[in-house]
Amino acid sequence: MKLYYDLHIHSALSPCGDDDMTPNNIVNMAYIKGLDIIAISDHNSCLNARAVMEAGKGVVKVVPGMEVTTAEEVHTLCLFPDIDSAEDMGEYVRAKMTGIKNQPEIFGRQLVMNSQDEIIGEEENLLVNALDMDIYEVSAETKKRGGLFIPAHIDKSSYSVTANLGFLPPDLYVDGLEITSRGLETFGKQYADFGIITDSDAHYLENISERERFIDEENKNTQKILGFLCKF
Ligand SMILES: [Zn+2]
Ligand SMILES: [Zn+2]
Repeated sequence: MKLYYDLHIHSALSPCGDDDMTPNNIVNMAYIKGLDIIAISDHNSCLNARAVMEAGKGVVKVVPGMEVTTAEEVHTLCLFPDIDSAEDMGEYVRAKMTGIKNQPEIFGRQLVMNSQDEIIGEEENLLVNALDMDIYEVSAETKKRGGLFIPAHIDKSSYSVTANLGFLPPDLYVDGLEITSRGLETFGKQYADFGIITDSDAHYLENISERERFIDEENKNTQKILGFLCKF
């Protein structure tokens, strides 16, 4: 069993996500690229996850997720086993927002869409801001809902656990770590005992991963992630 994946993709709901990142464009591009499974992971919200999952039916498997910004301004990838758990977390996260409103002309529009790519709303709260929720709470709330908690792009010099906390806290529960393709050489060695994934973090259609990276049962560190993905 080999799953070609890209588990970090933003839709037009993320202010920094291109307006062309519609549910059908995303799943069709993933199909063209030959991916088996993708995750939709907008900043602090999963309001487009249901539409992308619906659009993905018969095209590509879609995991509902979110890239949560913790109080420490660490980006974390939270993936959920089903849309109800994801939306439940979405509600939880919404209550932890600081109330700062989006300014679309500065940050970009935050489009909520249906599975036909029609705009059905716009999110008012600015989604990229840090939540009133520390990294331990995000980890625990994700785990509680049967999800996977994976600190995002840990090799980046900003918005990452290593940059913002200085290290990966040994007492922090994680299911894996995301390292960008650039950081694999160095960080991959340093964190070799963890299940490591590498995603596109695509904000534009053309940046969605090629059929390059896969998870299979050969690597025991990613077995939990593989088991989770196999249920989709
Ligand atoms: Zn990020
Ligand atoms: Zn991202």
